[in-house]
Amino acid sequence: MHDLAGRFCAEPFEHFEILLDGRVSPCCSLWVDLRLGNVHAADLSAIWNGALAQEMRRSILDGSFRHCRKDRCAMIVNGALPHRGEVSEPHLRAAIDNGATVMEKGPRHLFLAHDATCNLACPSCRSGLIAASGAQKQRLNRVAERVVLPAVASGDLRKLSVAGQGDPWASPHYRSILSALAEDGCPPLHLALYTNAVLMSEKTWQAYEGLERHEITVCVSVDAASAFTYARLRPPGRWEQLLRNLAFIGEMRARGAVRLFELNMTVQADNYVEMAEFARLARSVGCDHALFYLIRNTGSHLGPHYADCDLSTPAHPEHAALLEVLRDPLFADPFCRLFDIQTLREEACGPDAPPPDAFAELVRRRMRSGAAEDWSAEGMALLEINRPWRAAQRFLRAVDRDPSARNRLDLGVALFLAGLPAEAMPHLESGQGDDSLSAEERAALDTCLAAARAESAA
Ligand code: SF4
Repeated sequence: MHDLAGRFCAEPFEHFEILLDGRVSPCCSLWVDLRLGNVHAADLSAIWNGALAQEMRRSILDGSFRHCRKDRCAMIVNGALPHRGEVSEPHLRAAIDNGATVMEKGPRHLFLAHDATCNLACPSCRSGLIAASGAQKQRLNRVAERVVLPAVASGDLRKLSVAGQGDPWASPHYRSILSALAEDGCPPLHLALYTNAVLMSEKTWQAYEGLERHEITVCVSVDAASAFTYARLRPPGRWEQLLRNLAFIGEMRARGAVRLFELNMTVQADNYVEMAEFARLARSVGCDHALFYLIRNTGSHLGPHYADCDLSTPAHPEHAALLEVLRDPLFADPFCRLFDIQTLREEACGPDAPPPDAFAELVRRRMRSGAAEDWSAEGMALLEINRPWRAAQRFLRAVDRDPSARNRLDLGVALFLAGLPAEAMPHLESGQGDDSLSAEERAALDTCLAAARAESAA
């Protein structure tokens, strides 16, 4: 149980988060159950000081925190909420001292998560590409006129975050807001961009260069440290384009046009072995931090696949391998922020850490040596536990280091088993030139090739 007596939280007194259906949350929508109103039915001021917003503030002032998810809120779980006596900002002090639930000034932090339009269809987030329809765009424009732009013009706003859903550069609605922010006369604020960065090129930025009057921070969701994994987890993003844009954002960070630059990875079964390389990628492009979060079941799109993606439970066959990855001393560096993975690292490094199993041992060897044989051995171990796609990732690394017919053949088999016959075929064909195959292996290869050709032709 968390002792919240005498504690205070500023979020309901400052934060206004617009969700996909237009409802408004007083802080992170996963941490609190109460919604304050709907921007499709009411304007900013009616919601900001409405009965529900006041009820939320009252629940903080009376110390009950009754609308907060005490098992989820990181501020509560980590004991990070300040004592009331420690709060010094005048608008918060006034609320505490007077028990005031009506705020004289508008929200300080506006978080936009109400347009899902995005150029990518990441399986961890959605099951296909999403773009607002014509009617939806009109509704979104009304939200901009009635809520977002008045909040920006009020001068009360300190921070605007775009976007908790969708991508700021893919959404015409978000782009129209960014255009307004780029205009002369717009009060300066902290603009926090959450983006996949595939469209955030130098050319795009030039069209919005007035944004540089604001304090800009950029957090890019990447989820991969290789083109192969990126293609799997961030379709249809182009890795080369992403790398060019990351380099451009890194240059902006170096010249001070961007104040904070971070890459983030949603850690899941398809990418956890790239965590260390991901941290190195973030450093190489000039980031301040590499952020890591566990994948969460945030919607129906993952369905039954969630259990396969989520490595956090010991029941997952690769859980021990994740712990091996987390034992890398690189993750002790404050450059890496582990958030909800931190407890797993403590488990991995603590005195009661479970001994590595055979598969985790392979992962550890691979993490240290990078040799083709280790990648290949890990791929074989993955095939044995029926993980052909992840086996293909490891075989690809083996081929990178040693493009022998044998390694390519193993890659082809894994791709074929992963349901990618067209991609598998050239690698399978290369195996035909491998004289070391036994008669049994050659027969299996011929069967595999025939099936791949038939499936590709169909
Ligand atoms: S859930 Fe946490 S962050 Fe949100 S209002 Fe409650 S205490 Fe504050």
